[in-house]
Amino acid sequence: MNPIQGNVSIDAQNIMPIIKKWLYSDKDIFIREVVSNACDAITKLRMVDYKLAEGCSVRVQVDKAAKVLRFIDDGVGMTQEEVERNINQVAFSGAKSFLEEYAKEEDQENSGIIGHFGLGFYSVFMIADKVEIDTLSFRDGAQAVHWESEDGMAFTMTEGQRAARGTTITLHVNDAEEEFLNVWRVREVLERYCSFMAFPIYLDEIKEEDVKVSGEGGENAAEEKTETPINDTHPLYAKAPQDCTDEDYKAFYRKVFNGYDDPLFWIHLNVDYPFKLKGILYFPRLKEQFGGIEGQIKLYSGQVFVADNIKEVIPEFLMLLKGVIDCADFPLNVSRSFLQNDGYVRRISTHITKKVADKLTGMFKTERETYEGFWPDIHPFIKYGMMRDEKFAERMKDCLLFKTTEGKYVTLEEYKRANGEKLENKMVYTSDAARQDAAIRLFTERGIDVAVLDQAIDVNFVSYMEYSAGADSKFRFCRVDAELDSLTSEEDAEALDSDKLTGLIREAAGKDDLTVEIKPLANESIPLMLIEDEQTRRFGDMARIYGRSEFAMPAKYSVVMNSRSKTIRKLAGREKDERSLLLARQLYDLAELSRQPLEAEQMTAFIRRSMEIVDLAAQL
Ligand code: ADP
Repeated sequence: MNPIQGNVSIDAQNIMPIIKKWLYSDKDIFIREVVSNACDAITKLRMVDYKLAEGCSVRVQVDKAAKVLRFIDDGVGMTQEEVERNINQVAFSGAKSFLEEYAKEEDQENSGIIGHFGLGFYSVFMIADKVEIDTLSFRDGAQAVHWESEDGMAFTMTEGQRAARGTTITLHVNDAEEEFLNVWRVREVLERYCSFMAFPIYLDEIKEEDVKVSGEGGENAAEEKTETPINDTHPLYAKAPQDCTDEDYKAFYRKVFNGYDDPLFWIHLNVDYPFKLKGILYFPRLKEQFGGIEGQIKLYSGQVFVADNIKEVIPEFLMLLKGVIDCADFPLNVSRSFLQNDGYVRRISTHITKKVADKLTGMFKTERETYEGFWPDIHPFIKYGMMRDEKFAERMKDCLLFKTTEGKYVTLEEYKRANGEKLENKMVYTSDAARQDAAIRLFTERGIDVAVLDQAIDVNFVSYMEYSAGADSKFRFCRVDAELDSLTSEEDAEALDSDKLTGLIREAAGKDDLTVEIKPLANESIPLMLIEDEQTRRFGDMARIYGRSEFAMPAKYSVVMNSRSKTIRKLAGREKDERSLLLARQLYDLAELSRQPLEAEQMTAFIRRSMEIVDLAAQL
């Protein structure tokens, strides 16, 4: 064949996606593109002759001394005419025309061929200042072809030397991109993008000695080596769920997410219609009680990695999970705006959400105890999901649990049924069981359940629950120390001199406008309590969560003096003097202290006063 020189033709219509891709993608993506082309070439061979493709593989060689990367496959190869058509015409997708030629229409969808857009190959020019292709087609009588280009525009095509079927892509890595000549770096990229590709991928580091033995690093350079491939050609998620054991799922989780911990449980997605979707979603254990949850969902397309955490495909709240999702019809090179407007993507997302809800509701109905056991780990996820996704909320609302201070798990309906008589349209909760212990007891001693809502998400969640119950709903959440009505004792106590007590406590607190109420509390051992308005407090909590404390209004609280308390009755009966003031101050500080740590000055005064009281007691 005479040397042919020419210019690569560019299909203007397709130039935009190329530009976008190069703007948006990481440079290392060229490895994915070249390796997936190599896998495609083997897939094509398998379509022609299944037997011929057995044992085929892809070899990636890092030859630092020669400053080249080679990608060698024993797939279909290309004839001169195919190189002209598939390589020289950028954005002409060879994959598409191959399918049209070889596959029956109904097989095209299931071919497992990765390429779609015909742009991939040219990404090598991001890192190479010269690219060579040596290829020999599987077709009878085909001639080997050598193609080279320095800029992806002008090329030279000559007769090639390659003796065995397949293709070798040689990239002369430019100086600025030398990192790709490090084996560890190439391994890292292969592991990221290619770890589930369908044919074995081997990585070889070419040492100078190897080159001496085999003449030139090339198609046979590493033939003698036996090693394990980089990738798992039959990833667990691609198998039928009935063929996978619990141990398989756990091992896959540990391998893919480099973890040591086991997941709580998982969902194996396996859909063929109306779209192809496979994957495994894992519910991870929470690391620490108040820690954030960091999930990771890896998206694949036909066993080729696309990206992590694509929020257009995976509903945002599912990002708290860990898992792999493979949408075979999902294009590899896509832009965000495409994803946002695509109906197919939305359907996938809806489907995944539904599957997750089905799994959880199913578990709630048939394995309630297991579900309760998981609740501490999964509740932030469920609550977050309900707040983010109306449909998910609708599905989950009856499977929502509340843990009580006694360690029971109840649904909202169960709570209402058990406590409704004593507590109309209300759920009382604690946000800090240790600090609010005194107030909690006021309820539990009367047989009322107190829910523990002590996670960061609960601040938002209680408001969400009230809001989503609708404007007509009278149902409210009340923190134990905000719920005066239910705290009040049914037994009335003898009326006390309220003016005197009010004056005393206002003076002790140094606040003239303090709201003071004198009421009989259910528990007579509590002399004084601070009750903070639920809504104001919530607003403040919310403002703090969003880092906007300046919006938090000053705490609005009132003091309740328990007319059933002996101490309060004593105070009411005494003339105001130094000692009654001392006691009132101490009671006020104690009530504050049980809500939040005291300010430095107040603390010092409190300690000094406590000493005085100890002295007084010692003199008795
Ligand atoms: P795509 O893979 O999206 O079709 P590419 O630009 O990556 O686009 O590749 C263009 C075409 O070149 C491929 O469709 C294929 O026909 C051909 N090709 C690329 N690499 C190989 C290879 N290793 N073996 C055989 N054909 C290849």
